[in-house]
Amino acid sequence: DYNIIAFIGLGAMGKPMVVNLATNLVRRCADVVLRVYDIADGPGQELQKLFPDTVQNADSARAAVSDADIVFSMLPEKDHVISAYLDPRTGIVSTLGPDSAKILIDCSTIDTATSLHVKSEVAKVAPRTSFYDCPVSGGVLGAVKGTIAFFMGCLPSDSNLPHLTKLLEFMGNKIIPCGGPSLGLAAKLSNNYLSGIITIATSEAMDMGMRAGIDPMSLASVFASGTAQNRQCDMFNPVPNVCPQAPSSKGYRGGFRVELMKKDMGLAVDMARQVGAKNVLGLCGLGVYTAASAAEDCKGLDSRVVYRYLGGKEN
Ligand code: NAD
Repeated sequence: DYNIIAFIGLGAMGKPMVVNLATNLVRRCADVVLRVYDIADGPGQELQKLFPDTVQNADSARAAVSDADIVFSMLPEKDHVISAYLDPRTGIVSTLGPDSAKILIDCSTIDTATSLHVKSEVAKVAPRTSFYDCPVSGGVLGAVKGTIAFFMGCLPSDSNLPHLTKLLEFMGNKIIPCGGPSLGLAAKLSNNYLSGIITIATSEAMDMGMRAGIDPMSLASVFASGTAQNRQCDMFNPVPNVCPQAPSSKGYRGGFRVELMKKDMGLAVDMARQVGAKNVLGLCGLGVYTAASAAEDCKGLDSRVVYRYLGGKEN
């Protein structure tokens, strides 16, 4: 249905998402051009080399999106999203006019207010253009494997959803319409709040049992077969060498950086305040991730490094 798709932000998540998108477009012999852009030069050039007939590396966001039908963005934080969309000279919105009928999909994890602000600025300039918040879950590995979940800020009845689903399925395997503008982000922040707290609880429970003398593998099997069963324990166990493929077994490299978890916990705590929800554990969790992000032996590593930050025994 599209001739030109733009993708802005080619980092840990964006780049493998483009690889999957391009691979599937090539496989289906779709006559689509993918225009990609990142403020860093490397990733766009690499993608163009990998898919010379499909990917074009643009030298600005404006150039990437100006005649695109659909635009994806995958940027780290709120300020990057504001700059990419609303910069008066170079921003995506500066390329729109009253007749533009594009679809803009922001996959970044940011606060709901910023997303709603960008959506309303788009609507002012280009009422026929749709803007969706559509954050993802599943991590870098999920982005590489094409198994991420998309939490879309729209109703299940949204008329764009059927054809967007086909495109999103090139990059992920679950598309959940969360009910309306910014609710994809509200869902994502609720999800990361929960997984961040579960990571801390798993770290503490593993350390407690191990200090009492239980072998870490036995302890992980106990949790896996009991009421404590959870994915942080089963697949991403924070104790090194319990799950061979987990970041903890590779020096906490790869995975989801502790700084990103700190950001998401902060966003979740702010959201809880705004909607009047109690958030006792969230505040503790934010404190832990903030301190771990500043600790020399934890910063820059996978968020499961909180186990180390909390003084857990490393075997
Ligand atoms: P990243 O820092 O690896 O990549 C972001 C990219 O955006 C970088 O390459 C950067 O150069 C580029 N960029 C910044 N400003 C730009 C601009 N104005 N125009 C064009 N490019 C720009 O971050 P990431 O890990 O890919 O995460 C992106 C988003 O996805 C974040 O909001 C994060 O919270 C969320 N997320 C990450 C993961 C994960 O496991 N890494 C999982 C789910 C969701």
